Amino acid sequence: MYKNIDKNNYTPMMKQYLEIKENYPDTLVFFRLGDFYEMFFNDALVASKELEIVLTSRDAGVNNDPVPMCGVPFHAVDGYIERLSSKGYKIAIVEQLEAPGINKIVKRDVIKVVTPGTNIDEQYLNEKENNYLGVIEKNNNSYSFGYIDLSTGEAKITSIPTADMVYSEILKLRIKEVVIGKSISKQMGEYLSKVLALTLSENDSTDLDEYLENLYNELTNELQVAAKRLLNYLVLTQKRVLIHLKKFTEYSINDYLRIDASSLKSLELVESIKGDRNRNNLFSVLDHCQTAMGSRYLKKNILYPLINLTEINERLDLIEEFNKHPIAVNDIKHDLSSVYDLERIIGRISYGNLSPKDLVQLKKTLSVIPHIKLVLSGVKGKIAKKIGQNINEFSDLSNELTEALNDDVPYLLRDGGVIKTGYNEELDKIRNINSTNKDFLVNFEKAEKERTGIKSLKVGFNKVFGYYIEVTKTNLSLVKDEYGYIRKQTTSNAERFITPELKERESLILRSDERSIELEIEIFNSLRESCKAVASDLQVLAETIAKIDMILSLSDVSKTNHYVRPNFSHYDEFEIIKGRHPVIEYYNNFNFIENDLKLYNNERILLITGPNMSGKSTYMRQNALIVIMAQIGSFVPCESCVLPIFDQIFTRIGSSDDITSGESTFMSEMLEVNRALQNATYKSLIIFDEVGRGTATFDGMALAQAIIEYLHDEIGAKTFFSTHYHELTHLDSSLPFLRNVHVEAVTKDNQIIFLHKVIDGPTDQSYGINVAGLAKIPMKVILRATDLLKKLTETQAIDVKILSKDNYIPPIVNVVNNSKYDEVIDEIKDLDVDNMKPIDALNYLFELKNKVGEK
Ligand code: ADP
Repeated sequence: MYKNIDKNNYTPMMKQYLEIKENYPDTLVFFRLGDFYEMFFNDALVASKELEIVLTSRDAGVNNDPVPMCGVPFHAVDGYIERLSSKGYKIAIVEQLEAPGINKIVKRDVIKVVTPGTNIDEQYLNEKENNYLGVIEKNNNSYSFGYIDLSTGEAKITSIPTADMVYSEILKLRIKEVVIGKSISKQMGEYLSKVLALTLSENDSTDLDEYLENLYNELTNELQVAAKRLLNYLVLTQKRVLIHLKKFTEYSINDYLRIDASSLKSLELVESIKGDRNRNNLFSVLDHCQTAMGSRYLKKNILYPLINLTEINERLDLIEEFNKHPIAVNDIKHDLSSVYDLERIIGRISYGNLSPKDLVQLKKTLSVIPHIKLVLSGVKGKIAKKIGQNINEFSDLSNELTEALNDDVPYLLRDGGVIKTGYNEELDKIRNINSTNKDFLVNFEKAEKERTGIKSLKVGFNKVFGYYIEVTKTNLSLVKDEYGYIRKQTTSNAERFITPELKERESLILRSDERSIELEIEIFNSLRESCKAVASDLQVLAETIAKIDMILSLSDVSKTNHYVRPNFSHYDEFEIIKGRHPVIEYYNNFNFIENDLKLYNNERILLITGPNMSGKSTYMRQNALIVIMAQIGSFVPCESCVLPIFDQIFTRIGSSDDITSGESTFMSEMLEVNRALQNATYKSLIIFDEVGRGTATFDGMALAQAIIEYLHDEIGAKTFFSTHYHELTHLDSSLPFLRNVHVEAVTKDNQIIFLHKVIDGPTDQSYGINVAGLAKIPMKVILRATDLLKKLTETQAIDVKILSKDNYIPPIVNVVNNSKYDEVIDEIKDLDVDNMKPIDALNYLFELKNKVGEK
């Protein structure tokens, strides 16, 4: 590590680098030198390792001290930046700000800082996900928490009572970078950077130019500080005027069904437990959206389901309207397939990095809006009609873009050909001159061929010499003085000449080429201004499209997956008939067993018993998913249901060791239980899967019973509590609002068979040993465990003597490794006896005998 570097010991250029670096200590500085971005000192050590590029050195010291250096070519820089910012690094881009002169150092400075939360490069962004930059501010009794997506301009802010809830929001929104000021304690900072692995950006300033005032001036003072700190950081890093940002919308976490981070994970809402975002999660089942905006909107709604019944019903009504109009749905879906990512295009219009392709995409998008409006207005349904009527078609802008833009355009404006012929008179004229000039060249070549008699004579062009006449060496003798050819360049097998006439034309052609590009740029900029003027209305259109797309997707899924409309109860009823797990049934071929859920008359706790692997946690999760889907406003996988509206969901499922924060499995289990006990209300849904399993039996059972009693008497939340302690089922005699159910399993020939069927009443035994048998644990272990269980049940106590090994005589059965038998049995089952010769059968018999080891 290089520390205390003295700038004065280095060459002027290195001194310039060090001066810039001083102001950007927590970034990697990409320093432009010709065709490369170079990194020096510690930055070079880090970048060469992270990017796996060669570390070299450069003599830059007064004493010729070599300075570590590595570099990336300027044309490939985006890929490198993407890799570094995915790893949480910030990159300051230093450009040359003037043309190189003789004997002087070129002026250079940072033109932009790319950070994980502000990177808007298309390569870096996931089209189905927002990329948010967050801000946290500690107030007297709360935290202000806000976030912005620079690519779409979305800006939200809220006040949150506890740090824990702030963390939950951060995890839910997958925020990668958070801006903080001095109000955030060192301890909190460490939690954010070490446990949540965020890039922390400290920023003490909240100063802003006036033009940004309307984004935050309606917020409370406390929220304003956070909003300003965040905006200030954006200005500092982007180094440009930011006009596409939307006004901060204030939200309250209580306006949505609150799903804590562990529920998000264990219910596999937007990614599977194994981290798969494309499969095996609720989002992947529900996402049949045609546009990226629709997918992002759906994802956000899965994270933030509604609690307002009117809003939920409005969505359900719209799904019903769509379900009744399959032709309209198909039409709109077809239209939506030509809709591009309007939100991000609007972002680029205002941000200034708009490409011709973006504008063509906007043109294509706007061209289908009138049809969407027409179809929606024609649907026989109140909501669709209303949405249709409120759509703004942007006909003026759409016409302007259609008239102006070619369909097929280059990525760079400089390459020309963006603006249609016929749109601008001057441009047409110049293009005409240009084509006349180009015709001239063809004719000129023809004439020269005739004049000289050289058939292979060619007129060509290169950047250094411009237009030239090329004559191969073999024909050089035919070039006469009278032709007035002036020799310009010699190549390996030809000579290149110019003539005054050719040069004259050349300057005409080049001037008109340049002028036509200039004009195209002017026209493009004026089109961009037209878009900019209606940017906020376009944002409204983008949001409407996202909503329509999401509902169409939900309608689609409801049909293909046979979902039904949920009903909501005013009387606390909680009934799901023939419920299914939406994700398991979608991704698996096996027959999924439907199950009912019934909690009536103030019943609160469902105590679920049954052997491991019988389906307890599947059952609990499917019911929670049905609740979440219903509150998103989606149809649900069951025959019918009546649900309360929940305010929060808490889960404790499985063992999620929080190794990074140094918590043991049991400790993290208890922390999650505590979070639920502290925050749940009688309107919440709690899922406790085998709570108490992580400690000794009596310990665990005692804890489980105490937690159940507390939930029953003090909180009253609807709770699913699964346990393999079937001893707890007696609780229904003392807790009137607790109901016992169990997942059925039967044993046949000592083999356990799971029926996955949930039925009323407690289970009668725990089947643990049978399940162990199923896992092919050696028979000796199974037999001894059966013996111990029998003794424990008889004595109902731990009698060391009785349980001792000395008191155990293994049964006289031929105990062999039963897994070996299973293998043989499988093999025999697969045997193709019909096609075996007698000798093969005999040989196989010998083989079998050897395998099982019988004499
Ligand atoms: P438990 O929580 O009781 O240990 P799980 O819920 O993890 O059991 O279920 C074990 C396996 O049983 C699941 O992976 C699933 O494949 C299967 N399963 C569970 N419920 C059902 C069901 N209703 N229909 C069909 N298969 C099921």
